[in-house]
Amino acid sequence: MRQTVNRIRRLWKFRGGVHPPQQKNISTSAPISPAQLPERLVLPLHQHIGEPAEPIVNIGDKVLKGQMIARPQGYVSAPIHAPTSGTVIDIGNYPVPHPSSLSATCMVIHSDGDDRWIEHHAVEDYFRLPPSELRNLIREAGIVGLGGAGFPSYIKFNPGQQKAIQTLILNGVECEPYITCDDLLMRERPQDILSGLLIIQHALQAHECLVAIEDNKPEAFVALRQATEDYDNIEVVQVPTLYPQGSEKQLVKVLTGKEVPADGLALNIGVVCANVGTAAAVHNAIHRGEPLISRNVTITGSAIGSPRNLNVLLGTPMRELIEQCDGNLDRIERLIMGGPMMGFALHRPDLPVIKTTNCILAATAEDLPPQRPELPCIRCGACADTCPVNLLPQQLYWYSKHQNLDKVQEFNLFDCIECGCCSYVCPSNIPLVQYFRFAKGDIWTQEREKEKSDIARRRHEFHQFRVARDKEERQAKRNRKKAALKADTAAAERDKKKAEIQAAIERTQTRRQDAMKDAEMRRSSYQGRTRDHSTAGNAGQQPENSSDTEQK
Ligand code: SF4
Ligand code: SF4
Repeated sequence: MRQTVNRIRRLWKFRGGVHPPQQKNISTSAPISPAQLPERLVLPLHQHIGEPAEPIVNIGDKVLKGQMIARPQGYVSAPIHAPTSGTVIDIGNYPVPHPSSLSATCMVIHSDGDDRWIEHHAVEDYFRLPPSELRNLIREAGIVGLGGAGFPSYIKFNPGQQKAIQTLILNGVECEPYITCDDLLMRERPQDILSGLLIIQHALQAHECLVAIEDNKPEAFVALRQATEDYDNIEVVQVPTLYPQGSEKQLVKVLTGKEVPADGLALNIGVVCANVGTAAAVHNAIHRGEPLISRNVTITGSAIGSPRNLNVLLGTPMRELIEQCDGNLDRIERLIMGGPMMGFALHRPDLPVIKTTNCILAATAEDLPPQRPELPCIRCGACADTCPVNLLPQQLYWYSKHQNLDKVQEFNLFDCIECGCCSYVCPSNIPLVQYFRFAKGDIWTQEREKEKSDIARRRHEFHQFRVARDKEERQAKRNRKKAALKADTAAAERDKKKAEIQAAIERTQTRRQDAMKDAEMRRSSYQGRTRDHSTAGNAGQQPENSSDTEQK
């Protein structure tokens, strides 16, 4: 049955949410265009959630475009591939885009300008492959969630034995202001997104697929509707624009009415969400044999002369993208990776684009007015009313401010998705989400410290145990030696006694034999004398009772 354009799906509403100014039309007038090939690419080995990748090439090695240069370490990890051909000129610490402003291990490739691909092939008849093999191909291609989370996709596409997947949701909501890379992708490449969706559906063996698009993207909605009209188990759903609808738990609620458990995953209730960009990356990996080496990035904000979306090789310095879009670095008040609600400020413009860079917002004071002075909380409750996860931000603020880390955890700080709705509505200009990020950071630091001290304590305890065990072992060895010596002495004593007894027996036997010999000799001698006497007295007669005489 073909889906009809008028099909109406029941939608639910999630709690809270806000309507910040969209500012999306700034960057949607031009189509997505490829960014220029940079001369030097800096590739952090940690661009995803999980363990960083491990380099498999050395400084000085020549690499080809699409060649794996760092392999995943452990289950939750993702490989990194060379975005262009060139030479590895360094592996070391470089500044990376991260809220901490810290440096991390990166591989630096000097481009040879040829942009020469490694040999690569499409996968024929992917639907004949078992889902596990398909997931491995997705893993090998280094695909992670491109919506901003960066979770390795092959793990997300593995429901395990626990539950069959009822619903696969393709997330085209893109609810953050300013960001338009998914919108443009849906308008321009709906067939690639559909193709990726079918592959993911096969990997998950999902029964139905929903593509969610907010009603502020009518072109994208029409494009996806047309692309999927021949598929009766795929439904493209238009949802009312409301921030933070693109957040996984909120979107699941809106589309299915189901609540994802606070400490669980959508997977636990038979739902998997993937971003539309991730679906297009899966299409590239399976139908073109191309790993994830580039992504679409929105370059926007009032400091940009020609805001638009670029397809950017990973590792490209953001400064070059700003220049390509006629940006004025001097006008930038705040440079943000992501949107104004959930993004974070960058401390310098030469940081590289990574797998999770969906937007570079070069904001002036016009875009984001400076933070107004923070006033005392008036306990108006507006923050609690807008919180989509039903937290009490004013309580969290109070305890975060006073660094009562036990209490903030009691008030479920870690359920906070850092959407910023509470800060957005606070009449006292309290940057609530910043307090929550700091509190989370403090707890993680404390936990790391605790973990370190636990490790030190366990090491000390093990050392003590080893000393005691060695002592015991030495004592046991001494005891064994002593016992063996004692046993040897006893055995020697026994042998000696035995020998003495044997010697005594032999002596007795010898004496007895000697006595018998003597007696024999005496008898022989007596008999001889008796015979001589008889012969002399009674020649030729034997005495009648000679034997009696002898016995006597
Ligand atoms: S919105 Fe601001 S002022 Fe109102 S209760 Fe929350 S923290 Fe306090
Ligand atoms: S930032 Fe956290 S506390 Fe504030 S509204 Fe969002 S989820 Fe709730």
